[in-house]
Amino acid sequence: MANAPDVIRKIREQVTEIDPRDVHDLLQNGSGNGTVIVDVREQNEWDEAHIPGAVHVPRSYLESRIEGAAPDKSERVILYCQSGNRSAWAADALQKVLGYENVEHMKGGITLWKDRGYDVEVPPSLTPEQRERYSRHVLVPEIGLEGQIKLLESKVLLLGAGGLGSPAALYLAAAGVGTLGIVDNDVVDLSNLQRQVAHSNDRIGVPKTDSAETAVHEINPDVKVEKYQVRLGPENIMEIIDGYDVIVDGLDNFPTRYLLNDASVRLDIPVVSASILGFEGQLSVFKPHDGPCYRCLYPTPPPAELAPSCGAAGVLGVLPGVMGLLQSVEVIKLVTGAGDTLNGRLLLYDALGATFTELKVRRDPDCPICSIDPSDISEEEMGHFPDYELFCAGAG
Ligand SMILES: [Zn+2]
Repeated sequence: MANAPDVIRKIREQVTEIDPRDVHDLLQNGSGNGTVIVDVREQNEWDEAHIPGAVHVPRSYLESRIEGAAPDKSERVILYCQSGNRSAWAADALQKVLGYENVEHMKGGITLWKDRGYDVEVPPSLTPEQRERYSRHVLVPEIGLEGQIKLLESKVLLLGAGGLGSPAALYLAAAGVGTLGIVDNDVVDLSNLQRQVAHSNDRIGVPKTDSAETAVHEINPDVKVEKYQVRLGPENIMEIIDGYDVIVDGLDNFPTRYLLNDASVRLDIPVVSASILGFEGQLSVFKPHDGPCYRCLYPTPPPAELAPSCGAAGVLGVLPGVMGLLQSVEVIKLVTGAGDTLNGRLLLYDALGATFTELKVRRDPDCPICSIDPSDISEEEMGHFPDYELFCAGAG
């Protein structure tokens, strides 16, 4: 009976071997088009490092999965493993059992590839602590490891660390959003604590940005917090929101909301918007050029008596909690790509009646903001609403 070294020697004689240098050249000069490079190692080995541009088909799944990676059996297929043994076995199976006509395996595997000083790709992964922290996310198929990594790489901006921004800050931090920007120029007041749960009794008088940062880090020290203790205005909005993936609108006044709309459409950043009054909440997602914008929905400001920010309106403390968490869910869907967002839909929540109602919102083809090319929105036009400030001041 032949021993293992004899068998592998025999197999090696029957499969074509390619030097890492030739594979490298193939990738470098672009002549590798139509060639499939397959890593046949196990998942943990692939996760550590692999050849850029390679596809992963573990040896144990070769027969069932290779057709997904290389559907055409006359295509050139180059296999590699760690040191060149498993790829020889796999190449043998591909040509003998599966009928591939143009199979090679790489000499010396990725070990020799690395020895030659060629680049490898290290896919992002979770640290052992992150694996434990986010294990319940990773178990959800719609999120999984890939979705969790997207969350960790995401940058989300919270406009306001008040009633809506507080629950959003806490849950988005817990969910592992990598960077949380927080814009708020206020300090914590005793009357805030009825609903703004990111703050606490012992932080009364502290800037809300600092207080929210403390709360975020108590839950998840990994989250990077960017603080903007300013009032959002035409002079700073472009600089602040640029670079964020999603914006959570927890603004308390209409002029800034219009300004935010115009700036986010111009920079193509989706906004998850919510507002509350009394026992009622509204929620929507505005994804520029993909759905309606805020001005498509509200072309003109609401009548003065309905503008809650203009006076000190009362609110059920739990309501912004509900709406802020619904915003957080939309943020996670936008970042991970899971599910259907509220893009093009307006969700109304009536807490007293315990009902959710949904309205379709269509893009206005004549919208002054989202119907034109973003670069055509001039600085002067952005957020400009004739007499708006006056209107609000009048309702004081
Ligand atoms: Zn629009």
